Amino acid sequence: MKSFELYEPASVREAVGILTKFGPRAKVLAGGSDLVAGVMKDWVEGEGMPLPDALVDLTTIPQLRGIKVDKNGATIGAMTTLTEIIESKELNERFPLLTRAAHSVASQLIRNYGTLGGNINQRPRCWFLRGRDFNCLKKGGDFCFSVGGDNRYHAIIGGDRCYIVHPSDTATALLALNAQAKIAGPSGERLALFDKYFVTPGEDILRENILKPDELLVEVLIPTPAPDTKQAWMKLKNRQVYDFAVVSVAAAFTVENDIWKDGRIVLGGVAPIPYRAVVVENQLKGKNIKNSMKQAAAVIRTVARPMSMNAYKVDVAQSMVERTILGALE
Ligand SMILES: Cc1cc2nc3c(=O)[nH]c(=O)nc-3n(C[C@H](O)[C@H](O)[C@H](O)COP(=O)(O)OP(=O)(O)OC[C@H]3O[C@@H](n4cnc5c(N)ncnc54)[C@H](O)[C@@H]3O)c2cc1C
Ligand code: SF4
Repeated sequence: MKSFELYEPASVREAVGILTKFGPRAKVLAGGSDLVAGVMKDWVEGEGMPLPDALVDLTTIPQLRGIKVDKNGATIGAMTTLTEIIESKELNERFPLLTRAAHSVASQLIRNYGTLGGNINQRPRCWFLRGRDFNCLKKGGDFCFSVGGDNRYHAIIGGDRCYIVHPSDTATALLALNAQAKIAGPSGERLALFDKYFVTPGEDILRENILKPDELLVEVLIPTPAPDTKQAWMKLKNRQVYDFAVVSVAAAFTVENDIWKDGRIVLGGVAPIPYRAVVVENQLKGKNIKNSMKQAAAVIRTVARPMSMNAYKVDVAQSMVERTILGALE
């Protein structure tokens, strides 16, 4: 593994100062399960994806850790571990969608030290990207190996020169809960809805989110859902043991007299960013859910553009959207 300088700031301001000094050659370090044990150990690098010279350890900043729940919603520090989220009674009562999604991440061991901020900002898992021998477009090369190669787990929606799928289960759930990110940088803090947080390859193939090199995610803010909001999470994995989503679905919606009032359906594992299925939501608006969910779920087919080996994911996505809505109603 490449050597690096380790910085241990005591505050967010100090962390931002170090990031500002080093620019793109520095990265923030949370639990390290992806950055150190994956990207750096496996030399996942290229001209557009240099390995860092400096790591800014966030475990030394106590203010980044913790969960607060009040009448306005929840605030979760970026360094809160996935296990802390899963074990929070208040989050379980108010945001079961998030706690279930967090529980479906990786293994108990990884959840014990993997953080919310790290889960949201982890790099994609495309096996060509992770392979040292493939200098693909996302690393700054000039070729996408998934187009002619094994693309069975790649994107079926929204691929554009690069066909990664967003790997984060919690990000999918947070989008369905209409959450926001609090970001710290040299000019202070800013808020961004997760709707606008993730970046598609078409927008910038070298990035996955809006964070600049001198910024970090500080907190996640989840608004209190409307009364009686139904929430459900479903994830299909290729292996029964821990694994990334082949397809996942997060649903949060309100119903009145069996009629869909408002809500969100978000899919993970299908697109380079968590995919909000507005096309499905539009089909449900103002309609009897049980009577219209089958037809609404089928609309996912109109936006899907599968690759040579992953058309099966379109069928899976359609069926899982329907089953997740049904699960939320039950
Ligand atoms: C075997 C295995 C199976 C897995 N399965 C799943 C799965 O099923 N579902 C799933 O969602 N994930 C899965 N993961 C990913 C795992 O959940 C992530 O590795 C973990 O959540 C990342 O957390 P971390 O704190 O260790 O992050 P790190 O590895 O420290 O960081 C990951 C990335 O996020 C950046 N980062 C971290 N914190 C911040 C911050 N506050 N602001 C800005 N950037 C930040 C880092 O710079 C780095 O690029 C799996 C990982 C492994 C190794
Ligand atoms: S899908 Fe993206 S990350 Fe994977 S090989 Fe193609 S360009 Fe690289």
